[in-house]
Amino acid sequence: GTPRFVHARVTPLDDDLCLAVVNDNTEARAAEQSRREFAVNVSHELKTPIGALSLLAETIEEGADDPEMVRRFSKKMRKESRRLSKLIQEIIEISRLQGGASLLEHEVLALDGVVHEAVEAARLGADARNIRLVTDVRERPTVLGDRDLLVMALRNLIDNAVQYSDEGAEVAISVDARDGVAAVAVIDRGIGIDPKDQERIFERFYRTDPARSRDTGGTGLGLSIVKHVALQHSGSVAVWSEPGVGSTFTFKLAVHQEAS
Ligand code: ADP
Repeated sequence: GTPRFVHARVTPLDDDLCLAVVNDNTEARAAEQSRREFAVNVSHELKTPIGALSLLAETIEEGADDPEMVRRFSKKMRKESRRLSKLIQEIIEISRLQGGASLLEHEVLALDGVVHEAVEAARLGADARNIRLVTDVRERPTVLGDRDLLVMALRNLIDNAVQYSDEGAEVAISVDARDGVAAVAVIDRGIGIDPKDQERIFERFYRTDPARSRDTGGTGLGLSIVKHVALQHSGSVAVWSEPGVGSTFTFKLAVHQEAS
């Protein structure tokens, strides 16, 4: 198995009896390591848009007498600023989520209402790519959760489905419940994900195509936020995907049983 970081102290009590205190801090070390990695990644990820902005500003300064160029590069600057602010927002969100569940405000929610809100939030981006969002509510389960976080997580899944589909395509969102488990599925017929990437896409900053992700305003944090929201709700998120066929992301939560 995996090596563990164990510290043991053995105190002899008498001739044939010892007291051993074993201190296992494997998890604490792993958490510390993961925090450090995150900090390094964050500074690296922030440098890219900041560097791009400064270069764009310099170019505009030098070519100030060419209005067409100024317009083009200003537009690029606006796009980079938008991505930078999304990045900062998501970094704050993920730090908050990793901090623990104590900050969550759980309330009884109608899942189809939450899904509806997420779909509406994703509508503008979908319209821009001429993508139809089709919602299919098969069951109306009630769940216990933080409304804003659930909307954010589901919206991330829908935004991705839109982003990784061809223009004019359709994205389906279904709500179902079975055996005490509520499930929201987001189904696209987009580019799909290679089997070797399917586990890693939930990692912070992991993208299968960094250039494409950056170009479409992606941050590489969306799915890791979705995963953390699921974990904070004792739920799960899973992917089924086939390159060239499409992807289905399924977000599951326990159905809330009303006390009677
Ligand atoms: P990003 O901001 O890059 O979209 P995410 O964390 O949301 O970051 O997703 C991580 C990566 O997973 C993406 O860069 C992309 O490679 C892949 N991905 C996520 N959703 C989809 C999807 N619906 N179809 C194809 N690839 C996807």
